[in-house]
Amino acid sequence: MVQITNHMPTAELQALDAAHHMHPFTTQSELAERGARVITRAEGSFIFDSEGNKILDGMAGLWCVNIGYGRQELVDAATRQMAELPYYNTFFMTTHVPAIALSAKLAELAPDHLNHVFYSSSGSEANDTNIRLVRTYWAEKGKPSKSIIISRKNAYHGSTLGGASLGGMGGMHAQGGLPIPDIYHIDQPNWWAEGGDTDPAEFGLERARQLEKAILELGEDRVAAFIAEPVQGAGGVIVPPATYWPEIQRICDKYEILLIADEVICGFGRTGNWFGSETVGWKPDIMTIAKGLSSGYQPIGGSIVSDEIAKVIGNCEFNHGYTYHAHPVAAAVALENLRILDEEGIVTRVRDETGPYLAKKWAEMAEHPMVGEAQIVGMMGSLALTPNKATRAAFKADAGTVGYLCRERCFANNLVMRHVGDRMIISPPLTMTLEEVDLLIERAWKSLDEGMAEAKKQGLWEEG
Ligand SMILES: *Cc1c(COP(=O)(O)O)cnc(C)c1O
Repeated sequence: MVQITNHMPTAELQALDAAHHMHPFTTQSELAERGARVITRAEGSFIFDSEGNKILDGMAGLWCVNIGYGRQELVDAATRQMAELPYYNTFFMTTHVPAIALSAKLAELAPDHLNHVFYSSSGSEANDTNIRLVRTYWAEKGKPSKSIIISRKNAYHGSTLGGASLGGMGGMHAQGGLPIPDIYHIDQPNWWAEGGDTDPAEFGLERARQLEKAILELGEDRVAAFIAEPVQGAGGVIVPPATYWPEIQRICDKYEILLIADEVICGFGRTGNWFGSETVGWKPDIMTIAKGLSSGYQPIGGSIVSDEIAKVIGNCEFNHGYTYHAHPVAAAVALENLRILDEEGIVTRVRDETGPYLAKKWAEMAEHPMVGEAQIVGMMGSLALTPNKATRAAFKADAGTVGYLCRERCFANNLVMRHVGDRMIISPPLTMTLEEVDLLIERAWKSLDEGMAEAKKQGLWEEG
């Protein structure tokens, strides 16, 4: 067996990768042709590839490396835990210290009434759990007909059958027979793309009131819960008009339905508070967590559940659970990650220093000739690209064509910035220094300049 190491030529690694590794959300034939970028190591806010490039990671991996790369404390926590107890389950009336300690810490950090944690290894699995949790909750309360979960188009809630069904991504529903029954989608609060001539504040109310309309149409006796990300992430970092959030809370309060806040991205400091729900003023019954919970150093997720739901579910045997529920190594690493976020004041720094600094610089990006709107909450931001700021026109190309061009220019300029359609998005490590924020902005601006020149060259630019 050949040793496959970092020292092999990139082309050989790419060929082996394309031959045997099926990539997520990728056209594999295209990947085989182009070869994947091989990431070999990372430090702080930077990743390094096999060609020796040092790339500023404007996405914190996939929105998850909140404390940055290379924290030895997390390595040590994993090593200690692996030596002491690498695995044990918490089925059959057993438990272990990492599970106990992490649960107690999460109960302390979460809003007052959320004190109980059910674990998974990912955000998708946690949302699958949530589907069963809320339906079981209502069944136990003698209302088994309350089984519909309302979500939003262009939401992202994961890639399992349940998670992708809750999500509102058309491309995902088109494959594999989704969504599963009793999931209902209302429109997203994306004023830029869908608001037309409506005033943004009005539009925010209208989109929130679609929830009320759906509850009334479907019947309150049929609806179990509403699920939403406080700020849509994978959908393109969509920040709704400020009128939206309180109206959602009002509607959830008025009708007997549960609010599930999917905090997989917004949680653990991303928006300048421990949880996005705090930033937007929601009082959820369940919060989905993953990603920043361990800063991506270990796969772990979960559902933080209200006292009321935990009490009701506690009356039955909940026939659900994963082998790696509260995995001791993952839990130990998550706990250490939370300690660092807390003791180093990283969350408050996002709120008081890095976040406001980035927000100011990000707002200036709106002056770029191709940027129609620059939105940001804490350390997650988006830029809507357009050839005409006044009309919010699309490019003379399929949606995403120009976004993709710009993403390629970012890579060439050693910056990871993703595109969702023709929106560019960032979600950098929360530990970024102010100098690194400057570097991000500088590279982003340069990449947009080059992307714009390329779009014009290809004839995709028409002010229309
Ligand atoms: C990433 C994400 C998920 C899915 O988490 P995985 O760990 O990839 O399964 C769910 N919800 C939101 C909001 C996400 O961003």
